[in-house]
Amino acid sequence: MNNIRFFRERLMLWFAQNHRPLPWKGEKDPYKIWLSEIILQQTRVEQGLPYYQRFIARYPHIRDLAAAPEDELLKLWEGLGYYSRARNLHATAKYIAFERNGIFPDTFEALRSLKGVGDYTAAAIASFAFNLPYAVLDGNVFRVIARFFGIETPVNAPEAKKEFAAIAQQLLDPDRPGDFNQAMMDFGATHCTPQQPGCPLCPLQTECVAFRTGKAGVLPVKTKAPARKERFFIYLVINYHENTLLKKRVEKDIWRNLYEFPLLETGTLPTDNQAIIRLLTEHFFPAGLPQGAVIDGISKPYRQTLTHRVVSAVFCELTFAENPPEFVFNEYPFEDCIAVSKAELKKNMAVPRIIDWYLQERSLTLRLI
Ligand code: SF4
Repeated sequence: MNNIRFFRERLMLWFAQNHRPLPWKGEKDPYKIWLSEIILQQTRVEQGLPYYQRFIARYPHIRDLAAAPEDELLKLWEGLGYYSRARNLHATAKYIAFERNGIFPDTFEALRSLKGVGDYTAAAIASFAFNLPYAVLDGNVFRVIARFFGIETPVNAPEAKKEFAAIAQQLLDPDRPGDFNQAMMDFGATHCTPQQPGCPLCPLQTECVAFRTGKAGVLPVKTKAPARKERFFIYLVINYHENTLLKKRVEKDIWRNLYEFPLLETGTLPTDNQAIIRLLTEHFFPAGLPQGAVIDGISKPYRQTLTHRVVSAVFCELTFAENPPEFVFNEYPFEDCIAVSKAELKKNMAVPRIIDWYLQERSLTLRLI
């Protein structure tokens, strides 16, 4: 391709004048680069930045991260979502700290074999930390390449990755792979943006196929993703004195190792409060509500969208005026629950975002009494 040299030179010139200052830019420590890249997977820079700063402050070295209790790490991760990233982060930190004596791998293949590290992250660490010639391919790079070369292959088609990766690798400046990768991502994030790209002032404009053909608005092409599966949760929030009951999600499912209130999953969410109470009572207290227990109210429905799921949840609050009888919480379905104070819950327990939203609002809009 004749325009490769044009692209490379113009992009690097643009980068010299426009690069975004961020704490991990120009960083050579593979630990910090890896940490920032894992945090930024599926996360916007503005959202990930304070998390990166908190992690670096709490765990300045990979050994500190490896030695942290998982609950503490998950709590620090709270709000970022995609918790498998945090679990992989921990596993990889332990592996490097304890089995590699704290020394980060320095080849693409060895980086790629780390838990939670895919082609993109391996290329980013390899190029930023070790100046190795591996091109990154993220959403920004897909977009810039699709537009500049006028490629109409859907970016989520199975064959797209190979096609775009080959072009990205050809474009890469072998003398400055780290800077080039950063330039591509910054250019896609701030100039050749998804909506209203900066075509009128673009340094690549004269050779850009999408600009010439008026297709910047339709490229990159993406096929419609299948609809997400819906799940419906009814949570029982038990209050006695300052305590509540929580259970850890240990199954291989969403939100593994996070804490939640006792849960009843249903096929749909009843719109009628009495139906919700009936379902909860049948499930949690088949012999009827224990003495002294009062249902305070039911929340409005909350909705959280995950990668492949949409979870809708309501929260039903049940309060004991006095300490509940012992037997209540020692038996199914409460036997794996732990009692924690509300303060402890807020400070130390990592919960799914939908629970956090509820705890912040605590609005029993459909108050029964
Ligand atoms: S001319 Fe427009 S579409 Fe082409 S690279 Fe520049 S900003 Fe992107």
